[in-house]
Amino acid sequence: MAVSLGAPRVLLRRLREIMAKPESAQARLDRIVVQIAANMVAEVCSVYVSRRDGSLELFATEGLNPEAVHKTHLKRGEGLVGLIVEQAEPLNLPEAQDHPAFSYRPETGEEIYHSFLGVPILRGGHALGVLTVQNQAQRHYSEEEVEALQTTAMVLAELIASGELTVAGDLGGRASRDGTRRIACESLSEGLALGHAVLHEPRVVVTKLIAEDTGRERVRLGESIEQLRTTIDDMLARVDMARAGEHRDVLEAYRMFAHDRGWIRRMEEAVSTGLTAEAAVERVQNDTRARMLRQTDPFLRERLHDIDDLSNRLLRLLAGRTMTAAQEDLPEDAILIARTMGPAELLDYDRQRLRGLVLEESGSASHVAIVARALDLAAVGQATGIVERVDTGDAVVLDAEVGEVYVRPTPDVVDAYADKVRFRAKRQEQYDKLHDTPAVTTDGVEIEMQINSGLLVDLPHLEESGASGIGLFRTELQFMISSTFPRLDQQTETYRAILDAAGERPVVFRSLDIGGDKVLPYIRRTQEENPALGWRAIRMALDRPGLLRTQVRALMRAAAGRELRLMLPMVSEVSEYDAARDVIDKERAHLRQHGREEPERILIGAMIEVPALLWQLDRLLPRVDFVSVGSNDLLQFLFAADRSNRRVADRFDVLSRPVLRVLRDIVVAAGRANTPLTLCGEMAGRPLEAMALIGLGFRCISMAPASIGPVKAMILSLDAAKLTEKVEGLLEADEADIRGALTSYAEATGVQL
Ligand code: PEP
Ligand code: MG
Repeated sequence: MAVSLGAPRVLLRRLREIMAKPESAQARLDRIVVQIAANMVAEVCSVYVSRRDGSLELFATEGLNPEAVHKTHLKRGEGLVGLIVEQAEPLNLPEAQDHPAFSYRPETGEEIYHSFLGVPILRGGHALGVLTVQNQAQRHYSEEEVEALQTTAMVLAELIASGELTVAGDLGGRASRDGTRRIACESLSEGLALGHAVLHEPRVVVTKLIAEDTGRERVRLGESIEQLRTTIDDMLARVDMARAGEHRDVLEAYRMFAHDRGWIRRMEEAVSTGLTAEAAVERVQNDTRARMLRQTDPFLRERLHDIDDLSNRLLRLLAGRTMTAAQEDLPEDAILIARTMGPAELLDYDRQRLRGLVLEESGSASHVAIVARALDLAAVGQATGIVERVDTGDAVVLDAEVGEVYVRPTPDVVDAYADKVRFRAKRQEQYDKLHDTPAVTTDGVEIEMQINSGLLVDLPHLEESGASGIGLFRTELQFMISSTFPRLDQQTETYRAILDAAGERPVVFRSLDIGGDKVLPYIRRTQEENPALGWRAIRMALDRPGLLRTQVRALMRAAAGRELRLMLPMVSEVSEYDAARDVIDKERAHLRQHGREEPERILIGAMIEVPALLWQLDRLLPRVDFVSVGSNDLLQFLFAADRSNRRVADRFDVLSRPVLRVLRDIVVAAGRANTPLTLCGEMAGRPLEAMALIGLGFRCISMAPASIGPVKAMILSLDAAKLTEKVEGLLEADEADIRGALTSYAEATGVQL
């Protein structure tokens, strides 16, 4: 016998009454199975609940032997009920005993029943249990009945997740957001953090499941879908129409789903069964999540993820909540958790309250990772499943050195990390005391220490670190986090703000180093086999002089009446330097022609990061105002080892004879030509490596702001003359382990590393 469409609503109303009664969860469950059986004209209705070990326990029944309650246990995957949990899908069978998975339990007395309908009790895509109905007659339950049972299962999910049933045993109810979890991930920005989780996109907990007025719920659902579409259209309008790459693709997919008839129809149907609009969205979302967890095709999984995101947005719209947690009250020690995030979204947060960032996707080249590094915020990416496993307020330990996140950590993990964090804070305090101490070695050699920077948000580091200037300003970072090409005025404004913040301290602006791993979403690029060796940096600038010209014009305007230092990246031939200089000279002439104020002084330099340049130093050095060694690129090209490929990047030691010899040759050549020399690659920021550089004769080094303290402490405890002797000896001697020899030297002579 089929139930009429009105029946589910009657059932939901009854369930609401039962749920409102002040009695135990077990008593409610017992009443609920009676109601369902009566409403669906079934002889049997049973509820099985998952336990943490994966088994299922019969928790309540109408129709089966009451003695079997809490006694019948099915192992993980056993029987029809086990199959439903595994597949997280309904099972509708006219003759249950014919199914290969049927498992006969004599204590239940179910052999007389033929037809069987079971649905998973889902929450967050995970099955907390199974709800079944059975009839003696062989019959096929209708679509409406399956729907009605699924809707009822939502109410049971609430009851199980409330934890009130746990008296009976250790249920697997909130398994995905329970207990300690350790998730391995990829470090995006180094640091350690202890704090509390904040979901970037707050999860709405649906508390009201059953509608008072179905008509009103239908209208609410319709309105919020409309609103959802508008917000997506707005987002799409904000990205550059012509070329927005991947970001645009995601939004297009969102828009497509927001108009997807199937998705909307399923939510409308769920409302028709008597659920509130929120519960209807969640009901359909549960199905999507269950499918997502089973999906192995990465593309389809991604699309289901998109629908899941959209459902969350819809729930927030219905609940009148903000779209992200940035506008909400944050704890003092927030660790932000997100599937992914745009750079601007991260900047919306109050940095003072952020301790860390954990992303489910996003690699180290992502824009949000760049911003996290600029903010000096501990961050990790590729933390698979984190969003699903965390609730706002959960304790989190983030180790962005190793690439690990602990969710709801055990006390010993917390203690171990708290010790580490305290130790670091103490060391930082010592470094802070060195803020105003000049970086001079024990034998009186002054070392100029500068910082690398690239965004407006990292400018405070200049003051905080006590550095003497910015040795490398990577201008492309501003371009990378922007969704459209920054126009002349915008660029001018940014550069002016940087010069203002730096005051008397010098700033070396590097012209755009786009290409390689630095991709601009709004610039169309052709696929390259080896992008690091491809069309990038000055190569692109010379082929598209408009880019360089605009940037130079903006820099000159910003530096009117002040000094402008401009550095060219990836120069491989002297002629490239000459050609770029021509563009710069023309811009200067243009400025003059228009009677605009010029920079007081313009210094133009080149990066030494392509090996071919090493044999042109005699021609290059007299032409330039300064040079800076980009050891990151120089070494990847010298060793033919991709700097972003972990497998090979760490294979060669920067403290090895070929590297030290190349660097020594550069120092000698620059000294001979009297050309100011700096090194701005990562090696300058590591105390032992920086020590070697000083031994080779470098007197100016530029590094990440956080490295200034440790490197300065090293310099203050170093005798440069003695070290030079040691390094020169090592360059010629047969010593295979130069790193080891330098470490021993530092230990023996009291150099602080
Ligand atoms: C380098 O190559 O060493 C360098 C400083 O530049 P980037 O890391 O931006 O390529
Ligand atoms: Mg480089």
